[in-house]
Amino acid sequence: MKKLELHWKILIGMVAGIAFALALTNTSWGPGIIGDYVKPFGTIFINSLKLIAIPLILAALIKGITDLRDISSLSKMGLRTIVAYIITTVVAVSIGLAVVSIVKPGGSIAEDTRTELIEAYGGDAESKRQAAAMQKDAGPLQALIDLVPSNIFEAASSNRNMLQVIFFAVFFGIALILIPEEKSKTVKDFFDGLNEVILKMVDLIMLAAPYGVFALMAALVVEAPSADLFAALGWYAFCVVLGLALMLVFYMTLVKIFTGRSPQFFQSGIAPAQLLAFSTSSSAATLPVTMERVTEHMGVEEEVSSFVLPIGATINMDGTSLYQAVAAVFIAQAFGMDLSFGTQLGIIATATLASIGSAAVPGAGMVMLVGVLGYAGIPEAGLALIFAVDRPLDMCRTIINVSGDATVSMLVAKSQGKLGEPSVKNWDDHYEEVK
Ligand code: ASP
Repeated sequence: MKKLELHWKILIGMVAGIAFALALTNTSWGPGIIGDYVKPFGTIFINSLKLIAIPLILAALIKGITDLRDISSLSKMGLRTIVAYIITTVVAVSIGLAVVSIVKPGGSIAEDTRTELIEAYGGDAESKRQAAAMQKDAGPLQALIDLVPSNIFEAASSNRNMLQVIFFAVFFGIALILIPEEKSKTVKDFFDGLNEVILKMVDLIMLAAPYGVFALMAALVVEAPSADLFAALGWYAFCVVLGLALMLVFYMTLVKIFTGRSPQFFQSGIAPAQLLAFSTSSSAATLPVTMERVTEHMGVEEEVSSFVLPIGATINMDGTSLYQAVAAVFIAQAFGMDLSFGTQLGIIATATLASIGSAAVPGAGMVMLVGVLGYAGIPEAGLALIFAVDRPLDMCRTIINVSGDATVSMLVAKSQGKLGEPSVKNWDDHYEEVK
């Protein structure tokens, strides 16, 4: 009998987790059992992925840069990567603005639903505002200062400092290229080997993915808000999801035009990473899997993927920027505000920057949304309006964040002549081998 492909196994795990939790939610003991005995396995699964994110960035980037062998191809690739990331983000915000302006979801929120939501979620929204205020107190160049760590071990001790680790790895890689080969060889071989070990760890963790997502989805279902709230925010959620779906179509079109690869090739290559992004709401936790899929299943050579993807996971968040645009305009509509064309252009700029600044962890996009609201003069109290549905939308936007990184890695690889055939054609044999 033909074995199921990995993404189907993960999908079955997700659906089974939801069904299991739904069957138990109405019992008095079910949610407790899920919280105490099922959720921990989801947490262990996410932790095992996060565990390898920092070593993966270090090993992959250093290996990637030294494989390039010269600084000029590094700067060429770096420039292409950044330009592609900025263009896709601006397209994402524009799609978000277009959808929310056409559908006008804010107009359909009744006055008392608005008051109810603000009362119910005012406190939660306040904590996001405070988190944002802490970031705002800093000077205009704080982001630049934050890029350079004063201690690499301290930087590497938190997944929130990925940009600092990336900075160190790029700096280290450049220095490694510049020293004589007989001196650099041992160091380079060490990072090559380390990279292989970590990719193998990803394979091993992926064997547990269907069970991990089962636990994650079951825990999410028992913690989900009531269906009534979902209904009240239905049009808003619809706009975000529609925008995200259009973005996916945009990626597939780009891939088809620039690399000739079909949408089906793209989807079946990246699907397991997308499903994990959905289950974990974290592009950082998904990074090891994105890396493995893009390199082994989508034909991007390692020296490109190991440079483009860690940077993308940290700064390229098309799903997040699209959501920030939709959310900002939705809140403005709900408060009866009209946004001028100039303000909307400003939203494109601020949402682009806010998505770059968002950490690749659950809920980060909402903290950075505060800055977008502040810029456009939209009441920050409006965050409470969207709080109830933020987690499911976070799950969806993280899929797009990860897909955007994969797309750009294919485009950059193509432009550098580094897009080949996938090294693993039959996924099942690959995972069987691991077992
Ligand atoms: N959860 C998103 C990510 O990790 C960020 C966000 O939009 O909150 O990519």
